[in-house]
Amino acid sequence: MAGEPQADCLFCKIVAGEVPATVVRDTETVLAFRDINPQAPTHVLVIPKAHYRDAAALAAGAPDLAADVLREAGEIAAQEKTVERGYRIVFNTGAGAGQTVFHAHAHVLGGRGLEWPPG
Ligand code: C5P
Repeated sequence: MAGEPQADCLFCKIVAGEVPATVVRDTETVLAFRDINPQAPTHVLVIPKAHYRDAAALAAGAPDLAADVLREAGEIAAQEKTVERGYRIVFNTGAGAGQTVFHAHAHVLGGRGLEWPPG
């Protein structure tokens, strides 16, 4: 069921404390931790604690929670001092777009110049 923890989901295991992560923010609804394979000096993943397979499912099923994720992404950019230089919030959605973990997550990338279009 939408929102319920999934036994086979890596990010649900991180939320449960069963898989380690370097947590940078932890609220009632959202967890943020450093990406294990950083693509920029700042590379933080922001996830809803509840399980939704991707950003669209999150926005459709729990719009307030989607807003929490976006708000926390902005807070992380401020915390990491990437706001002035600019930063990127990315939701890879679908395997063809590079999504490998099917629990909604925002990548917050910053701390270097970011080109457009992305690869
Ligand atoms: O958008 P995508 O689904 O590919 O993002 C998943 C991200 O989760 C990857 O950037 C990967 O490095 C990260 N990851 C992590 N910790 C893990 C496993 C994956 O930060 N234990």
